[in-house]
This record gives sequence, C-alpha cells and structure tokens, in this order.
Amino acid sequence: TIATALVPTAPTDPDATAVLTEPTPGSLPASASGQAPASVPPAAPHQPVWPDPAELRDVRARLSALPSLVPATECELLRDRLAAVANGEAVVVQGGDCAEAFDQPVGERVRSKADVLDRMSETVSAAGFPVVRIGRLAGQYAKPRSSPVEIRDGVELPAYRGDAVNGSLFDPRSRTPDPRRMLRAYRESAGTLAGLRERAAAGEPGARRPAPTRPATGLFVSHEALLLDYETTLVRTDSVTGARYAGSGHLLWIGERTRQPDGAHVEFAARVRNPVGVKLGPGAEPDEVLALIDRLDPEREPGRLVLIVRMGAGKVRRRLPRLVEKVRASGAPVVWLCDPMHGNTVSTSGGVKTRRMADVLDELTGFFEVHREMGTHPGGVHAELTGDPVTECVGGGGRLTDEDLRHRYESLCDPRLNGTQSLELAARLAELYR
Ligand code: PEP
Ligand code: MN
Repeated sequence: TIATALVPTAPTDPDATAVLTEPTPGSLPASASGQAPASVPPAAPHQPVWPDPAELRDVRARLSALPSLVPATECELLRDRLAAVANGEAVVVQGGDCAEAFDQPVGERVRSKADVLDRMSETVSAAGFPVVRIGRLAGQYAKPRSSPVEIRDGVELPAYRGDAVNGSLFDPRSRTPDPRRMLRAYRESAGTLAGLRERAAAGEPGARRPAPTRPATGLFVSHEALLLDYETTLVRTDSVTGARYAGSGHLLWIGERTRQPDGAHVEFAARVRNPVGVKLGPGAEPDEVLALIDRLDPEREPGRLVLIVRMGAGKVRRRLPRLVEKVRASGAPVVWLCDPMHGNTVSTSGGVKTRRMADVLDELTGFFEVHREMGTHPGGVHAELTGDPVTECVGGGGRLTDEDLRHRYESLCDPRLNGTQSLELAARLAELYR
C-alpha cells in the first residue's frame, strides 16, 4: 500500500497554539542551571497538545538531567567549517529522511544515510571543493503539518507529527501525542550517534589527527528545531566557555512554517551558539530575511547562519535574486543552501505525494544561476534522501514513473530521493561547481 501521510504544503498554518512550558524550576542539572529561557513567547506554533501536563513535566525533568548528545567542541568545529563555506572555500552536502523512524534499526539508518552522503560528497569534492557532510539524522523526529488532522475513509485523527510526538499508524491510540516519546527520541538519537562513531572509527584507523575537520561521528548531524519541549530542555552550558548550546544536534534549522522573526523558534535559536539554519520559501521577503539575520546573527559571524532556500523550480529564478541582493548588501556572511525538494512537492493523479527529478535538478540549477549572476557563493544542497532503493520520487536515470511509486514507498512523511537519484543530484552539483 502507498503511504498517504499528509505533506506540509501551506506556508502558514492556523494550527496548534500549545503553551510552551518552562523547565521545572530546580529540575535542571548544575551545568544547565540559570539558563531557562526567560522570555520565550507563550504560544509557539506547531506544538503538540500533550494530554497530561504532569507527565510532560516529568519528561522534561528527565531530559534536563541527560547529557548533551553532541560535544560543544563539535558544534564549534561545524561553525568553523561553515565559515569556510560562507567564504566560498567549501560546500555543504546535507541530507537524510524527511522524518526518521524509531523502528528502523540503528545499523540500517546509519548505513542508508551515511554511505550515500559519503558517496555524494566524494562526487562533489572531485569538483575541487572540500565538502562539509551533514546528515538529517540522529534527531529528525518532529514534523510541522499543514493540517492538525488527517482524514482517511471518513475517519478523522490527529495528524502524524513525527515519532517524537505520536505514531504514524492510523489509529487513535497511536496518534495521541505521548511526551514519553521525547525520551525515546533522545535514546534513538544517542544510538544513531554511537552507530556513526563506530562506523567512522572503523573507516579511519588513524583518524586522530591534531586538527580534525570532522566530528567523531564522521559527519555532522542536524534536524529541524521544532519541538520546543525537547529542544529547550536539552540546552546545556559549556563548562569551559560558559556558552549555551543546543545539545540535541550539531546544527538545528527552523522550518518555513515557524521562522517568524519574533516567534518562539527564532527566540530559541537566538539563545544558543550552534550553527543554525532557516528555511526560506517563495514567500520570503527581503526585510524578513534581514530581520532574521539581525536576530540570529547580530555579530555577523561567518559560520553561524545558514539560509536554506526552497522556492520551487518555477520560482527560484524570480524570487531568490532580491533576497540575495539585500543580504549581500547588508554584508551578512551567510551560507546559502538549496533545498530542491520542498518547493517541488506534487501529487500524482492517484493522490500520491512525489517530486520529479527534473524539477529537483532544475531548482538546483536555477539556484546556481542566481548566485553566479549576483557574484555570491552557492553553498551547497539540502535534500531529503536515502541510499535505499525506494520509489518515492519520480524520474532520473532509473526513469521511475508514477506507477512505480507503489513498489517501495516507505517515507513516513515527504518523498525522498533514492540512492541513484541522490548520486545524480550530486553529479549535477559537481558539474555546476566545475
Ligand atoms: C522539512 O525539511 O521536512 C520541512 C518541513 O521543510 P520546510 O520547513 O522547508 O517546509
Ligand atoms: Mn520534508
């Protein structure tokens, strides 16, 4: 059967207005004390309504006491690497699932993503640029949805919001938000990171270089900072520098639906030192982007801010230039990435969400055309992909058709490039850099 999960399509959402609760006073470990966000706006968009406040409090207290999943030094390393990208000296290959699944075994999740990201990076680095590898991995467990509910055969249930919130299975129990899932998200992420470290250590016997360019996990990990109950409780203060870091991943990004410059998600990101990304859809206005830069990168530090453009093949050439022009004129040293997936989601006549490889490649090409025209550096790609031979996106060398989508459509949310399509994307990227 074909997965028919709802796919976010609307740029705005009249959705959830759950209250963002503060960490329970006194529940934070010493290293994190005194860092509870003081002025997070009361209503954050796209938050689940947890059924039991006492259980939520308990989960938050438990999360608060857990160690950071990523070392602060590696977040700083990623900032350094991204600074090179901002300076036009390196490029980013970022990718992975739209929504990771708790039930995928660790070995599989590591192999299916890390191997293809490595192969993509090798392809791109052959064009002459060092590549910064970043997985949508080890924490991509929360999804914004265009509708708070999903209707199947006349039955209405809460929409699936990612494994950290509820289950994808279409039944009332599974779809009820369960805060204990956030503890599982932490454990699964820790497992993925351990799997990545093991893989990296096996692959690089002599990898203890004095000046490493990679984290112990081999690649950096990232996810959308959507679920604020999870993210805020995992902020930790570095004991050496006193700086605050999100402990849930090296790089966090803010989605197209939650990037309001005065909103709770931007507020959260402004308070941590990790590199942060912001998605920009076709409706993004230059002044909004400047407001985001002021908020998230007031010191104009290269490597801090990544702008991830996802406008669609038909719009990128028209909508992107004015953003690049304003940002360039402001002197902000941002990294520009192309997400050629989220602006190109279409439905087949059978109602299945897919993306066409031709559109994906066209948006990437348009993104490069704009940057070449403006004299700015196209910093790389951010894509939804897996190395597995899934049939979720159509076209490419394998010539997958709408008909093929029913064979192996496994995504819990948006359609991903399969291994072959991912390497084609990398080949186009390399070609564009030559
Ligand atoms: C995503 O990256 O899965 C996503 C929801 O993207 P966007 O915020 O760009 O729509
Ligand atoms: Mn997605």
